[in-house]
Amino acid sequence: KVKVEGGGSLALYELGTVSKTLERILLENELKRSVEQEYFQLEYQPKVDLKTLELTGFEALVRWNHPDLGRIPPDRFIPLAEETKVIVPLGEWILNEALAQLREWEEMGHTNLRMAVNFSTIQIEEENIVEMIQQALQCHHISPTQLEVELTESTFVNKDEMSKKIQQIRDLGATVAIDDFGTGYSSFSYIKELPVDTVKIDRAFIQDLDENEDSKAIVSAIVTLANTVGLNIVAEGVETKQHGEILASLGCHEGQGYYYSRPIAPVECVFFLENRIVGIQ
Ligand code: C2E
Ligand code: MG
Ligand code: MG
Ligand code: MG
Repeated sequence: KVKVEGGGSLALYELGTVSKTLERILLENELKRSVEQEYFQLEYQPKVDLKTLELTGFEALVRWNHPDLGRIPPDRFIPLAEETKVIVPLGEWILNEALAQLREWEEMGHTNLRMAVNFSTIQIEEENIVEMIQQALQCHHISPTQLEVELTESTFVNKDEMSKKIQQIRDLGATVAIDDFGTGYSSFSYIKELPVDTVKIDRAFIQDLDENEDSKAIVSAIVTLANTVGLNIVAEGVETKQHGEILASLGCHEGQGYYYSRPIAPVECVFFLENRIVGIQ
């Protein structure tokens, strides 16, 4: 145990608690400072049409490169950014950065690509989120049909409110995906209750697709259901050629994963942009 003295009062903290709290405060401050100083970068992961192996677009994934703390993965700072609401300005930066990148590629002649951007439900709950998205699209001269908003189902709070916002985003012309599908509590009911265009099957079900009959059965059921109600289906975490082939045979439309490419810096994307067929070896 560590004694912390201040203002005449004495408090006892568990060592672990102190370091957790300190880490949190440190990260929170650094997070705010980093948004201002633009220590964030985006990487892009290709999405592939499983039938034709053609590049369909990219998913933007944020990276925090702190000059002293090093590279901090999103799983460690996104939850904190949500709690502290830093995700609101950060998310706006992410969207604008991703759309500016898409614009740049368009001007290089790489047209008709889509960009998927992750949004936290905290952002969706913001009053002016639809205007913010519309403005970003206009500012970068991107057609709304080229944008897909990815939302993780486990964090949906008020379903009616969420439904309304999702519909407004779709009214702009953008599409909306449920991310990490299958990991939440009531995945199948979300398909019915939320007006989404796409389901992204969580990589937990893809990883052992070739050796686990249960995983294969679950993926098959998700794909069948989604196809029945006319949803686009994307599988994340495609790590082998076999994964891709099984998914294609089950009727899954798009794939994304290390087999095709890890998330990469914009300069590395040029290879995929110039060779629009991905995944042939
Ligand atoms: P996500 O949106 O489900 O993104 C997919 C994650 O899986 C990414 O991790 C990606 O690098 C990783 N991945 C892709 N292919 C494979 C594969 O074949 N195998 C394995 N094992 N992993 C693969 P990353 O970039 O660390 O992001 C983690 C999560 O952080 C994202 O999950 C998303 O929920 C959140 N996140 C990332 N960027 C943003 C952002 O810009 N905004 C918000 N709100 N959340 C973000
Ligand atoms: Mg995602
Ligand atoms: Mg996901
Ligand atoms: Mg996720």
